[in-house]
Amino acid sequence: MTAIWPVDPANPDPATLERAAALLRAGRLVAFPTETVYGLGAVARDEFAVKAIFAAKGRPATNPVIVHVADPDDVLSVATSWPDAAARLAAAFWPGPLTLVLPKRDDLPAVVTAGGPTVAVRCPDHPVARALLRAVGAPLAAPSANRSTELSPTRAEHVLKGLDGRIDAILDAGPCRAGLESTVVDLSDGVRILRPGPITATMLERVVGPVGIGHEVEGIAKSPGLMAKHYSPRTPVVIAADRAEAERLAGATGTVVDLGTDPTVAAANLYATLHALDDGRFDRIAVVRPPDSTDWAAVQDRLRRAATPG
Ligand code: AMP
Ligand code: MG
Repeated sequence: MTAIWPVDPANPDPATLERAAALLRAGRLVAFPTETVYGLGAVARDEFAVKAIFAAKGRPATNPVIVHVADPDDVLSVATSWPDAAARLAAAFWPGPLTLVLPKRDDLPAVVTAGGPTVAVRCPDHPVARALLRAVGAPLAAPSANRSTELSPTRAEHVLKGLDGRIDAILDAGPCRAGLESTVVDLSDGVRILRPGPITATMLERVVGPVGIGHEVEGIAKSPGLMAKHYSPRTPVVIAADRAEAERLAGATGTVVDLGTDPTVAAANLYATLHALDDGRFDRIAVVRPPDSTDWAAVQDRLRRAATPG
């Protein structure tokens, strides 16, 4: 059984945080809220605990996990250096939904980075996540708290749906604000977006000048398309050019999703909407395609992958 522990984000109860921190220090797994999605945490320096994350999620060992730190200065406990562009991006966007890929320290277990030489790090902007990190006193490896390839959780009940019985506890602080996974940025050769997210290319460019677009690692071996399918409900998702086409594709047995005109609101609601419709009532979910602008890049990316047949 997985325990659900309610925690008030405005005033997190220290005793609840300490219970969760004690589990984590003992090598157990605890899901916790962040501003993006719920994360599945384990102490990053505990090789066996991080291996347990991969087992609980059914995640391929080739897919590295993001390390979360309580404060920007803690980055050097997992990364060897802090290039100038990283420092500028962190100053502008941390705490927040931006993940930086940096050279890995040797004493960080290889399982965290899927054997690769770089580590992805971020400082989350959620009072419960930061209070938990401080209570543990060490960085936490934390991918999204869902089974591999499935929809990410933006509420505690979504975590329970995927991981009940596989993890010890869930800190429940209500819905996540951003609702989509962090923007992942590589800094090894200029600044490249590996995964679009809440921090858009336009926002990054205001701080560091032109940024390139790369590929989400999805296997450090860079197997092309290895995990093109990701972020998916069980019900097939199809993307329609407009509302009329969505209605035609949905037919009598499917349903239509129109995400509206505000990309921030759409991102916050996307996974919750898909979770709610993914209960077997419909044989397909037809989503009206959002506009092709940088504001919508993260939503477009997740929809494209949700719609990739597995
Ligand atoms: P999740 O935490 O489930 O959102 O997945 C973490 C994602 O972060 C992975 O799928 C990778 O795309 C990315 N990531 C994690 N570590 C690295 C790394 N060392 N280099 C590049 N991307 C990474
Ligand atoms: Mg994930």
